Amino acid sequence: MAEPLYGTPHAHVPPIGPLSPPLIRSTTAGQPDAETLRAMGAGERAGEFYQRLGHANGRAWECLVAAWEGADGAIAFASGMAAISGALLAHLRPGDRVLLAQEIYGGTSGFALHDLVRFGVVVDRFEALDLPGLRALLQRPAKFVVFESPINPTLRVVDIQAVAALARAAGAITLFDGTFAPPPVQKALALGVDLVVHSATKFYGGHSDVLAGVVAGRHELLGPIEGWRRRTGSLLAPDPAWLLLRSWPTLPLRLQAQQAAALALAEGLLDDVRAGRLLAVGYPGLPDHPDTALARAQMQGGGCVVAVELPGGLPGAKRVFDRLQRIARAPSLGGVESLATLPAFTTHAALTPTERRTAGIADGLLRIAVGLEGAEVLLADVRQALG
Ligand code: PLP
Repeated sequence: MAEPLYGTPHAHVPPIGPLSPPLIRSTTAGQPDAETLRAMGAGERAGEFYQRLGHANGRAWECLVAAWEGADGAIAFASGMAAISGALLAHLRPGDRVLLAQEIYGGTSGFALHDLVRFGVVVDRFEALDLPGLRALLQRPAKFVVFESPINPTLRVVDIQAVAALARAAGAITLFDGTFAPPPVQKALALGVDLVVHSATKFYGGHSDVLAGVVAGRHELLGPIEGWRRRTGSLLAPDPAWLLLRSWPTLPLRLQAQQAAALALAEGLLDDVRAGRLLAVGYPGLPDHPDTALARAQMQGGGCVVAVELPGGLPGAKRVFDRLQRIARAPSLGGVESLATLPAFTTHAALTPTERRTAGIADGLLRIAVGLEGAEVLLADVRQALG
């Protein structure tokens, strides 16, 4: 097999020379002779050649992700959506069927329903918490099962092993969006999924200054995805790759601190529920969470996002939301800054109130993506906003 044109796990060696890697922006690289030029152009040899075929900064980051995810390799894309769409389009043909969880990131369902179907792919939806329903849908051939856990914004937890096992038995590839909980919080590949994708814009970047995506898994599934990336030019550029390398060493510490703060915030807000100031707190790390046993089995901790149900429906939620002083009113998650969103007003605004209720998304739901300010600061902010 030719050398993969994406990053594979490498043993760590202490650098000799600069500790911060050089940023290499060159779009092309001189070669020693005609044969090397030919082999590089044919994709038979990895290395510096032409930037769209891969580059040093991107590959260095891919190697780290591959090892971290326990994958054969990892492929970096310009965004999470480029990774998700690339992973699917590299493998799908007209007439193939995709089973897409009802509870999936809106960008993914938008892409599937607007674009995949235009190319003759059949997209059927399933409820991620309904395993018998998925089993029934898998009676007919499917190429992919696409899902995520914890589910946004309800933070219900999907049985990843069970979904992966059902899909495998039916010959379908599982594509799992692990954005909400990267390793070590959740090791999706070890739980049996075939491909894990991340919006690296979130935790891997961690500082709200990089848009990036990545897909990791086994070589036989990655090969076609790398070919897709090369032909479509959807790879990550050197500058954001360098920023991801900069963010890498702090990833475990950030995750640990953000997760500890999320738990402390959720526990603190339970007092406000008891006092009648809040209707509910949803966090997979709380003992009264409906999926607490599953969360304990497949996650190390409850993640870094807390769902809070405010009284007074959408008007009540908007009032509190607008009064936040420390937590930024902004989409996204996984950065050092805590961010708040109102799903009923933004990501899930297209659903009717009844559809939202069926999906477990209360109109007064406030999603807080916890950063590094510390739980006390966040708790005080929510409390002053509650007034
Ligand atoms: N998956 C999830 C769970 C996300 O939250 C997002 C972005 O918010 C994406 C995928 C898409 O990633 P990107 O914005 O990097 O394209």
